[in-house]
Amino acid sequence: PARTRFAPSPTGYLHLGSLRTALFNYLLAKRTGGQFLLRLEDTDQKRTIPGAEERLYSDLQWAGLQWDEGPIVSGPYGPYRQSERTALYNKHANDLVHSGHAYRCFCSAERLDTLARQRNQAGLPLGYDRHCVDISTEEAEERAANGEAHVVRLKADEYPKFKDFVFGTTGQNQDGQKKYLKTMNRVYDDPILLKSDGNPTYHLANVVDDHHMKITHVIRGTEWLASTPMHVALYNAFNWKPPQFGHVPLLVDQNGQKLSKRNSNIDISFYRDSGILPSTLLNYAALLGWSHNQKSEVFSLRDMEEIFTLKITKGNTIVSPEKMWFLQKAHTKRCVADNGPEFQKLVDDVTKAAKERGNITDNLSVNDTVKSLLRYDGGHFTTPAEFLDRNWSFFTSSLNRAPYTLTQPDLGLEDPVSPLAALQTVATILTLVPESHWNVETHRANLDCIPYTSKAFKKELYHYLRWALLGGASGPGMPQIMEVLGRDETVRRLTEATQ
Ligand code: GLU
Repeated sequence: PARTRFAPSPTGYLHLGSLRTALFNYLLAKRTGGQFLLRLEDTDQKRTIPGAEERLYSDLQWAGLQWDEGPIVSGPYGPYRQSERTALYNKHANDLVHSGHAYRCFCSAERLDTLARQRNQAGLPLGYDRHCVDISTEEAEERAANGEAHVVRLKADEYPKFKDFVFGTTGQNQDGQKKYLKTMNRVYDDPILLKSDGNPTYHLANVVDDHHMKITHVIRGTEWLASTPMHVALYNAFNWKPPQFGHVPLLVDQNGQKLSKRNSNIDISFYRDSGILPSTLLNYAALLGWSHNQKSEVFSLRDMEEIFTLKITKGNTIVSPEKMWFLQKAHTKRCVADNGPEFQKLVDDVTKAAKERGNITDNLSVNDTVKSLLRYDGGHFTTPAEFLDRNWSFFTSSLNRAPYTLTQPDLGLEDPVSPLAALQTVATILTLVPESHWNVETHRANLDCIPYTSKAFKKELYHYLRWALLGGASGPGMPQIMEVLGRDETVRRLTEATQ
């Protein structure tokens, strides 16, 4: 069983890329019968956004990615907020100093600035010149004990290779390979583990926590691929077994640009507020880089928990919004058929949006209309706003019909009656159905057994009914339209139309 974690920093909100990372970790844990942890990496208090922590929790919960251990739920390896674990990081940094894998560096900011400038001018890679590496342990400990400002650096001579379960050891994909090789040759120059204020850097805290929380697999964004050899060096210095790493590729838009706020890497609440179902969004996020061998690509979270594997592509992943709309329609249809709490929630959301628009037919049960409309139109649903735009004629009595114009020139009528009068008569006959039989089946049967004089007549009748009942708007089939409107409103609209 895998123990995985999602380790966001409260420096921003959950967006599509981070949701995908959380989801892959969640799925691997569930698939293997393991645990999914949530850890808040809040060591950089200066960059913390107020409220981001709470938003992360509520966004993950909205999506349905409940963590087994972490903040709120707690667990055996807590606390799960890094700001509450400072003592542990200090202890481990000191352990490394004592074992000779790390050392204290007392260089001032000015010295480091000057050094950086000189190296830059000389065309050398930026980095540290190990000025403090030879200070004796006794002297270093004494200076530290006297309160002299310093950092702790890892003494890092060489970075080990590691096997990434997405990129492999050498990387087969050209794009990935180039980046990967750069990673391998990177000079890390004794990275800082503990800052002068006693707080750990991301690298130290991340490694210490993954070890103590018994994490077996780390799935995270490719932006961390370059730091991973250094993390492995840290595991080695501690003499700990590193977890397995898999870095998921960058999300890009259709023009190959890195996703940003402008091109849809917007935070999750945007999707939630515009009415995207959690199951749609999870399905959409999963398809960003994960390959499966199923026939359909419509998956619920439960489906994915059963079939997820670590087949993840290395190349940049193109995000296409059309895919999201396709999935939204499929998931809406599914949720209507399931008729569970997700459906109820959808009905409530659409009802609320309808009521906000105002100008609704008197005494209309908006909730019931939404419910029955979703049954017939759910497969086209994208957002409440779009759904209501398309179906607004069901909710409002002010249809503003333009005068009726015939579309078929010859209805095949023998008597020289007015074609419009003929249509009206047939329409009136349809409303003789009693309330108790007012349903799709009756309407379908009645519409089918009308002795149409011609194909053109049938076509024209439907056209006329659509005009009379919905002002001409497109929507579900005629029997469905009549059922959703109900007997009274159907009769009322037909009467109104013939006046
Ligand atoms: N705190 C890091 C982030 O927000 C976590 C990276 C990792 O998963 O190791 O990206």
